Amino acid sequence: MSVMAHARRPPVIAVAAALVVVGLIVAWMGQRADAVASGQPRVTWHLSRASNTVTVRLTPGQGPLGRQFLAHSTLTVTEPGKTHLKNPDPGGRMVRVTVPPGRQTQLTVLVKGPQPSRRTLTVTVPPALRIVAKSPARCQARLRLTAEDGEQAVVRVTVPALPEVPLYSFASPAGRAIYITVDDGWTPSPQVLDIMRRTHLPVTAFLIQQAAQRNLPYWRAFVAAGGTVGDHTVSHPDLTKLSLSQATAQWGQARQVLGRWLGRTLVMGRPPYGAFNLAVQAAAYRGGLKALVGWSATADRDGIATWNHKGLEAGEIVLLHWVPGLGQQMTKLLKAIHAKHLIPRPLTPASFAGQAPQRHSLGGD
Ligand SMILES: [Zn+2]
Repeated sequence: MSVMAHARRPPVIAVAAALVVVGLIVAWMGQRADAVASGQPRVTWHLSRASNTVTVRLTPGQGPLGRQFLAHSTLTVTEPGKTHLKNPDPGGRMVRVTVPPGRQTQLTVLVKGPQPSRRTLTVTVPPALRIVAKSPARCQARLRLTAEDGEQAVVRVTVPALPEVPLYSFASPAGRAIYITVDDGWTPSPQVLDIMRRTHLPVTAFLIQQAAQRNLPYWRAFVAAGGTVGDHTVSHPDLTKLSLSQATAQWGQARQVLGRWLGRTLVMGRPPYGAFNLAVQAAAYRGGLKALVGWSATADRDGIATWNHKGLEAGEIVLLHWVPGLGQQMTKLLKAIHAKHLIPRPLTPASFAGQAPQRHSLGGD
C-alpha cells in the first residue's frame, strides 16, 4: 500500500506527520465451497480497503436450477454479539458490514433456502491511520491511498497541534501585588537570602541547571527561606534556534533535575533571552511545565525600567539577575516597591488567572 500526502502547511513552521498504514489481511475460514454441486447459490465476498466494508453477495450456482434456487434464497450475516444484520438488498443477495479499523471480526454467512449453507469469514482490518503531532501548528492534509488491488481512496486528515504552555508578562494586580524574579544563578547573594529570612520576601529564582549545580547548598537555603524555583533550562540556549526535541530536553531535564536537587516540583519556566515561539511553548508542555513567565520590568545596576517607561505598577513582574551587586539592587527595588505601596507576592501559575498570554517575545535576558 502506498501513501501520498498533499499537505497545506502553515507558512511559518514546518509540519511533520508520521503516518502508519498497515497492510490488509483477510482470511477465509471455513470451507471453500462444495457449492458447485446441484445449483447451490455461491457466496462471494469482497473487502473494500478504502471504506473497510465487507460486501457479501449471493450469486447463482451452476446448472439449470442455479437461478431458480437463488431466487428463493436469502442471505444473512451475523457478527458475534450483534443481532442479525439487516439486509439492505431487496433481492436478499447482498449484505454490507463495516469493520472498525484495527479490529478483527468473525462473520457468519447464512444462506437460507432450498440449498442452505453456513460459513464463517474472519476479517482483519488494519489499524486506523496513526497520526503523530510533531509540530505546534495544526495541519490539514489529503491522503491518497492506493491499496494492493489498485483501489484508491482519498482520506482527509487533520494533524492536531501539540498543546502549548502560555507565556505571561503580567500577573494578577489584586491586592497591589508585584512579583520579584531573579534569573540564571551564577552568583548567589547572601544579602538577598538575609532579606528573605528577615522579611519573608517572596522571590522566584529562574535557575539554569548548570549554574545551580555549583551552589546547591545556597539554593536549598533559598528554598528553605520560602523562595520559589523556576526552570531556566539546562544551559541557557536561545530555544527558538533549537529543534523541538532539543528544546523539550532543555526544559524537561532542568525541571526534573532541579526538582530532584531542591525537593520541589517546578511548574513555571522562563525562556532564556525571553525568546519564545509556538515551538518553544510546545516544548515546555512536553517538558512538563504549566506556565511560562516573561517580565514587564527590569531592575539592574542602572536602576528600574518598566515596559511603558512609567513607574512600577501592580501586576508587574520584575526581572533581576543573580549578579554581584544584586543585594543593593534588591534594596533599591524594595524601596521603590514600598514607595508605590505595592506588596511582593509569591508567583504561582494561579497568579496568571485572568491575564492575557503574551504572543511575542520582548527580548532581554
Ligand atoms: Zn537568563
